[in-house]
Amino acid sequence: MNRLIPLLLLGLLPSVALAQSSLVIVDTGHTPQHPGATGASGRKEYLYNLDLSAAVAASLVKSGDRVARIAADGKEIELPQRATRTPGADFFISIHHDSMQQAWIDAGKRRDYAGYSIFVSKKNPHYEQSLKCAEAIGERLLKAGEKPSLYHATPIPGENRPILDRRLGIHQYDDLIVLKTAPTPAVLVEAGVIANPDEEQRLARPETIVHLADAIAGGVVACQVNAP
Ligand SMILES: [Zn+2]
Repeated sequence: MNRLIPLLLLGLLPSVALAQSSLVIVDTGHTPQHPGATGASGRKEYLYNLDLSAAVAASLVKSGDRVARIAADGKEIELPQRATRTPGADFFISIHHDSMQQAWIDAGKRRDYAGYSIFVSKKNPHYEQSLKCAEAIGERLLKAGEKPSLYHATPIPGENRPILDRRLGIHQYDDLIVLKTAPTPAVLVEAGVIANPDEEQRLARPETIVHLADAIAGGVVACQVNAP
């Protein structure tokens, strides 16, 4: 990780030093053919993921990182390929938006569930660094005024995810394929709950997308700087 732009402007470093900046894989969750969750309005998760992952990528590039986008081209891609087909990558982040249990929707409780959640896998070969990055992202999301959703810890089938950090909204999900197959540290972020109509509207606003993206990218940059 290098913050080279000011130094480059001063002509103090050769441009070859840019090769040392981090290469971050930014994964757009799902594909147009298999678009994930459905928003309260009917708009599909993939479209939300596409907007936010583009903003995360732009924010990372602005910070001096290199970015490889995955699944932004609309082509089908298998889950185990997402984190493994970019040689030389330093970090993997997957961007998603959340739904909720159908029973909660059926019970008219859409507005009861909101907020972001962050996932890491202990089966990832760099679990400790993944957790450090998840913490850095959580800290920045909190600072940006976002709240963790926490409902994935509900002790029912389909949820019941162990919470690693309640304040920061970090959960353990060992068998998330993109996280456990990643050869690099890896984090998955559910940015918010599109099945909640109020939250869906907020998540669609350009200013929300930029502020979420800056918080997520800021966490990725910070934990790379502090990487061993
Ligand atoms: Zn998803």
